[in-house]
Amino acid sequence: EIIPLKRALISVSDKTGLVEFARALDAEGVEILSTGGTAKALREAGLAVSDVADVTGFPEMMDGRVKTLHPAVHGGLLALRDDAAHQKAAEDHGIGMIDLLVVNLYPFEETVARGGDYADCVENIDIGGPAMIRAAAKNHAYVGVVVDVQDYDEVLDQLRASGGLDLATRQRLAQTAYARTAAYDAAVSNWMAGAIGVETPRRRAFAGTLAQGLRYGENPHQRAAFYTTGEARPGVATARQWQGKELSYNNINDTDAAFELVAEFDPADGPACAIIKHANPCGVARADTAAEAYRRAFDCDRTSAFGGIIALNQTLDGETARAITEIFTEVVIAPDATDEAREVFAGRKNLRLLTTGGLPDPAAGGTAFRQVAGGFLVQSRDNGRVAPPELKVVTKRQPSEAELADLMFAWSVAKHVKSNAIVYAKDLATVGIGAGQMSRIDSTRIGRSKAQDMAEALSLPLPLTSGAAVASDAFFPFADGVEALADAGAEAVIQPGGSVRDAEVIAAADARGITMVFTGQRHFRH
Ligand code: 5GP
Repeated sequence: EIIPLKRALISVSDKTGLVEFARALDAEGVEILSTGGTAKALREAGLAVSDVADVTGFPEMMDGRVKTLHPAVHGGLLALRDDAAHQKAAEDHGIGMIDLLVVNLYPFEETVARGGDYADCVENIDIGGPAMIRAAAKNHAYVGVVVDVQDYDEVLDQLRASGGLDLATRQRLAQTAYARTAAYDAAVSNWMAGAIGVETPRRRAFAGTLAQGLRYGENPHQRAAFYTTGEARPGVATARQWQGKELSYNNINDTDAAFELVAEFDPADGPACAIIKHANPCGVARADTAAEAYRRAFDCDRTSAFGGIIALNQTLDGETARAITEIFTEVVIAPDATDEAREVFAGRKNLRLLTTGGLPDPAAGGTAFRQVAGGFLVQSRDNGRVAPPELKVVTKRQPSEAELADLMFAWSVAKHVKSNAIVYAKDLATVGIGAGQMSRIDSTRIGRSKAQDMAEALSLPLPLTSGAAVASDAFFPFADGVEALADAGAEAVIQPGGSVRDAEVIAAADARGITMVFTGQRHFRH
């Protein structure tokens, strides 16, 4: 079952770990064959290697587009070792067997990420590399194929122990290899769709790299894993985890929701904090300090905040960390954390701390997917934002400066609340959130009753819905929603507008002395 490893072809763009790996192969008596740059690097390290050009009888040509595309290479990768006709053909044509292929591809994804122009990206599409990888992977009955630097050690361990690779390893390497070429072509195809402006390509490919196996999925009977796409957006997929046990499936989902929400608030405008439960915010606030923002977010719904996920739009400091540890929290995510904050958290193994090094740009484009039975939906990320000058005041009463600030705040929060979303806010903090209801009027009532609970918990004379600004993620289909807000004491409303009954809704607001602005943009989130 172990196939002895006598001859290896190494052709790598990423030369990390190359010399050490090749030296170890050499020490085990493996003959090494290489392409131009790889051979040069190995020779410089004092290793004896043969050139692929000598094996093919052709020089590498056309800017490296044609290096290894030759029967002397592909025959050596694809020949069945126990098939007499294959072996005779190899002998007749002087083709030597290749037992191990080590290839990593031209850095296409990196070229796109650094903003390479069209020609640059095209030139970085590797052709010979994927061809060899696919050939070697197909012939995994005899050939080992390595596409990831992180697999070098395992190959060496086996080689040293047994002189070759066992079938299970060759199969696993082949599976990884096909995922790599699939991901590579997916990246090329997705880049091209963007570059040529095709919004809905007839065929679409996706790929990811395993970041973490998960103990279970949304529920304990579901199996799950976390895959990353390589997108450079700061967030849960790219964050550094400083402490605490592994994130769960729900943690990852909620942490993403928390961080994407808090990124709506530019740190230049001051600290902001969001607390998430079940992918919905149970409190969001801005304040002069991060600790104050956290306390105000917490006060919105102290009951739900227990076991929540907390996101900050700026560095987590010691004071905020201390406030957070007063109750049980699952995850804290922030662009950074001070040494003091990390010390406060240290030893709490149930509390995970993640830092991202930055905030994602809420206005950035991108693609969002969602699965349905038998297919998936694709849409551009909801990066819609409105600036105050774009708002249309539709009522007799104009919003005051303070109301306008609260309306903008509530609107940014509502974008991240599952529909139907109603967000009551006062002094840049949420005071009641109605999420995920089938009727808008129910979300209106739930937000109000949350605010009443808050008034009780904080011994306030009046619920903070009195005088609040309210955001609705979509238009009010009837005047009853605005009536209900007015009954709760709200004085300002922000909503997209666009209902056939807008006139009735506006009249109801005017009758109750409410100021209302239209955004012209809806933020459904399901
Ligand atoms: P080197 O640095 O050794 O000159 O080149 C290594 C890179 O060349 C690897 O990324 C490998 O995938 C790629 N490569 C190997 N053969 C071919 C080929 O025939 N055509 C193209 N376009 N790339 C190749």
